[in-house]
Amino acid sequence: MYAYDLAPAIAEIRRTGAQRVGLETPDGLKRLAPDAARKIEEETGAGVVVSGESCWGACDTNVKLWEQVDLLVHLGHAPMLARERMVFVPVRMEVDPLPVVEKALARIPGRRVVLLSTVQHLHKMGEVEALLRARGKEPLYGPDGGRVKAPGQMLGCDFRAARADGDALLYVGSGDFHPLGAAMGTRKPVVVADPVTGQVRVVTAEGLLEERRRVLKRAAGARRWGILVSPKPGQARGGLARKLAEEAARKGWETQTVFMDEVAPSKVDNFGFDAWVNTACPRLALDDAHRFEKPMLTPQEFEVLLGLRKWEEYVFDEISGHYDIGKGENGKEEP
Ligand code: SF4
Repeated sequence: MYAYDLAPAIAEIRRTGAQRVGLETPDGLKRLAPDAARKIEEETGAGVVVSGESCWGACDTNVKLWEQVDLLVHLGHAPMLARERMVFVPVRMEVDPLPVVEKALARIPGRRVVLLSTVQHLHKMGEVEALLRARGKEPLYGPDGGRVKAPGQMLGCDFRAARADGDALLYVGSGDFHPLGAAMGTRKPVVVADPVTGQVRVVTAEGLLEERRRVLKRAAGARRWGILVSPKPGQARGGLARKLAEEAARKGWETQTVFMDEVAPSKVDNFGFDAWVNTACPRLALDDAHRFEKPMLTPQEFEVLLGLRKWEEYVFDEISGHYDIGKGENGKEEP
């Protein structure tokens, strides 16, 4: 069901004469790694070392492996980080979305339909557009740019693609992770057409917003805060963490910045803080909240408790800038 084209990576290995090549894949695609490694070795004569570490996105490249090899191939996502000696090879899903989009038409209000997807299905959007037009709809795309490389592409932390002036949002893809983010980011319902399961459903933000309100209530009164900062190259928001710590200090609240790569309950819960603010992957505080003993807030939720923002001004935590190793958003230095 998965397809990918190693030709650009092989061309780059040949062009640069790379002898040691690293290969990383997201966890869900680890099974593709041995085959891809063998193909690269056969085609180029280079030796390939496969990363066994978790990889949650293009933001999460294995920096240690990258430092030890001549070139790192990231198999799975579209490029996010502007970096030398690294090639991103997106993995596509070869599954026909048209039957489920046809089925979804009855749930799509209005004429102007904002198309959303992920890198696995983007190559099929031309066919989806043609079908929508044939059914009297007008497909359109929100803006791309920054970490988002193609029209309609969403990341779990970047929903600019959903911010277009349409009558409805249509997500073509699997799971609730991306459509829930789009719903939180726009406060609009998202019609999901899942080409893998053939199911159509509508995802809204209300349930998660209610849950976040409860988490905020639990965190109110906390005075000793941990502020999580990630070393992952596309999640490193040390500057934001510093700003939040300064604001908290003005209120007399105690904070401690904690640098953590893989954020796991066993590591987080050991610290004994009253609550946490998360500046790493925005989805940790939202989708994984139930895994942590103490409340974990997004930076914007923390601002609500600090009195810097009203609950009515709630915004989803998004990371939209360019990142690179040792640099902050859009190239600004991080500590
Ligand atoms: S920061 Fe989180 S949501 Fe954003 S790309 Fe990385 S893993 Fe995905």
